[in-house]
Amino acid sequence: MRLYLAVFALLAAVHCEELINGDQVLRINAESEDHIQILKMLERDVDSGLDFWTHGFSTERPVDIRVPHSSLHAVKDFLKKNNIPFTVMINNVQELLVREREEMARNAEVERQTKGFDFAAYHDLETIYNFMDTLVASHSNLISKVNIGSTYENRPMYVLKFSTGGEKRPAIWIDAGIHAREWISHATAVWLADRIATDFKENRAPVPSILSKMDIYLMIVANPDGYVFTHRSPNEFYRLWRKSRSATSNPKCQGVDLNRNWDAEFGGPGASDDPCAEDYRGPSAQSEIEVKNIADFIMSHGNFKSFMTLHSYKQLLMYPYGYSGTDAPDRTELHDVASQASKALNSWHGTVYKVGSIFHIIEPASGASVDWAYQRGIKYSFAFELRDTGEYGFLLPANQIVSTARETWYALRYIMQYVCDHPY
Ligand SMILES: [Zn+2]
Repeated sequence: MRLYLAVFALLAAVHCEELINGDQVLRINAESEDHIQILKMLERDVDSGLDFWTHGFSTERPVDIRVPHSSLHAVKDFLKKNNIPFTVMINNVQELLVREREEMARNAEVERQTKGFDFAAYHDLETIYNFMDTLVASHSNLISKVNIGSTYENRPMYVLKFSTGGEKRPAIWIDAGIHAREWISHATAVWLADRIATDFKENRAPVPSILSKMDIYLMIVANPDGYVFTHRSPNEFYRLWRKSRSATSNPKCQGVDLNRNWDAEFGGPGASDDPCAEDYRGPSAQSEIEVKNIADFIMSHGNFKSFMTLHSYKQLLMYPYGYSGTDAPDRTELHDVASQASKALNSWHGTVYKVGSIFHIIEPASGASVDWAYQRGIKYSFAFELRDTGEYGFLLPANQIVSTARETWYALRYIMQYVCDHPY
């Protein structure tokens, strides 16, 4: 009977997958202000079921939208009628999801058999948390795990602290995964944690000299509830979840965009007040416990000199501001540091990154963490959008994890060394 139910559940799942099979991601190139207005209107219509993979509209940059299978015909027709050019960027999202899930299952099986940890695989929250414990246990002279509070759904939020001693030394902050579906950022952070530990142990420059003066704090999963949700099913709705999982004023729509909820021009441009929107900013600045936990931790520490946050996708290395096109007071230096860091990144595989302020190279965004950090005196604040430029978007194949992490490390290493050499 039990077996029968399992088979039935499987059939139901297959049937369900068939129903949603066929979503596409369209890349749309606005060519005029009229086109931009039309796209903005589409984005505001949260009932349309369109999932904007990129935000902000300009004739300089394409907009990527996942379109449900049921609306494909209508949306393509609509774009054609309005003479808005588009291409199909991902032909069948479901195919990529199924491939990703099969790959994860295969990798998990190999890990079980070898009792090893595969850095070239995506992992769920529990596995990442176990990895952190193992890493701390084998590098206890360097790493400790700090619990900075709990999430909305009561999961612990952990930060790895890399320190060779001293009280509240100048410190570098790196977080990943504040947007749940950006899995390459979590996977990169996992690899980075191991790399920092190994480089220190093997006395490989520049890690030991950086850690002789500064501490590094690395948060691999900044949005644990959202991340758990993305692992629930291969359904697009779950895997492509971006926000937190808190209740909102609209019972039909959950979650806040945690990177629009910081106390930095909260409620300004590039954030929505609609709880159903992907970039919903929340009811008030730092209303979200996850953001509050991180902000409180950083403020109570009081000696962070650099704040870096990992996102995907687009291959960008950005600095403040996001809320305004005005130059940050340190813009020249930040631009120079980011340019050198992106050069270092490029030296590994030739991956090309664009460099600029958030506002200018991606989108206006108020309530973003990098602006918050910068406004609180953390000068060296940067946001990364990791691979790719759109071929797979948020569904980057696992065989690109290690090369992505390694090239990102080149950039981070450059920035950390620079911060170390330029005390303030
Ligand atoms: Zn993001």
